[in-house]
Amino acid sequence: MPSQPLIPERLAAPGVRTLTPYQPGKPIGELQRELGLKQIVKLASNENPLGPGPRALAAAQLAASELHLYPDGGGHDLKTALARKTGLAREQITLGNGSNDVLEVIARTFLVGGDSAVFSDHAFAVYPIVTQAAGATGIVAPAHDGRRGPRYGHDLDRLAGAIQPSTKIVFIANPNNPTGTYVPLVRLEEFLAAVPPHVIVVVDEAYVEYVEAPDYGSVVRSLPCYPNLIVTRTFSKAYGLAGLRVGYAMSSPQVAELLNRVRQPFNVNSIALAAALAALADDDYLAQSVALNRSGLRQLTDALGQRRLPYVPSVGNFVAMDLQRPAAPIYEALLRQGVIVRPIANYGLPNHLRITVGTEAENRFFIEALDRVLRL
Ligand code: PMP
Repeated sequence: MPSQPLIPERLAAPGVRTLTPYQPGKPIGELQRELGLKQIVKLASNENPLGPGPRALAAAQLAASELHLYPDGGGHDLKTALARKTGLAREQITLGNGSNDVLEVIARTFLVGGDSAVFSDHAFAVYPIVTQAAGATGIVAPAHDGRRGPRYGHDLDRLAGAIQPSTKIVFIANPNNPTGTYVPLVRLEEFLAAVPPHVIVVVDEAYVEYVEAPDYGSVVRSLPCYPNLIVTRTFSKAYGLAGLRVGYAMSSPQVAELLNRVRQPFNVNSIALAAALAALADDDYLAQSVALNRSGLRQLTDALGQRRLPYVPSVGNFVAMDLQRPAAPIYEALLRQGVIVRPIANYGLPNHLRITVGTEAENRFFIEALDRVLRL
């Protein structure tokens, strides 16, 4: 009997068949190849416009001489430094190849087919991906409509209400990407107290270092009360090491021990471990990052305000502007001006573009390009 032609799609796990891949920001090289432009400004991936810090760079260079050796699979030194900085025990920390890796490890640790994970509309795109890839189902809670909380922001009451008997994880980005919205600490603490203890709550604090709102706070201090709480962070943003891929989870030691069973043995490479350790000690660089972001965010939002272009108030290193019409043609026109920003139609925001805060000159380049494009 002739064998049937192999259709790989049919072999894929059911969750994978309906997955849409993560869409990263367009790389500078790609636009250069397409349009042959000389000057390109990329404000599309919430990267740090300062470049890597000098101490991290020096540590990375030093670590390169030992590239023939496997990295320390337990990440002893970095975990020790993180534990010291956060007031936790080393056993409460799990390292990852970026916090995306940590999020994936969490999903693979707790989710199987038939389970569900809850997250908000407009929440970070990796939550549905890791949920579906693990064979589980994503449940999307509606975001605030602007009456009882910031428009597009996570609505904790609705997130709590969306929890089903099948729910094993709730993902909360605080602040959220791509909206830049946040939930106040008091509200998050109330939420944690209300969630059943058998549901894991992941609070993703990728942008924590930037936030200056007085009612914002990290939930790390709530860890002793909630063995079901996981807080994730990254070195990709304020620490300027996106290319090296280092992130981490903070949790109860019991949860960390479970995550540790699932993660790949050498998931963080030796250069990344060394650079992250040095970055963690570089308070000057961090302060500079935060200050540059503060003034850059103001520069961008002032410019948008002057042009009466609405935007979602943001506490992160990016801002989502509302063009009040389909944003895709504006995105394309900005590309032709040498500016890469991020369309966020895949987040249910087809009229918005997300602009990462750049240097003063990069922000100006974007604003001037936007003026030209909107005049066309
Ligand atoms: N969480 C959020 C909310 C993010 O915006 C990002 C980066 N886009 C990440 C996690 C993942 O960052 P990384 O894998 O570089 O740590």
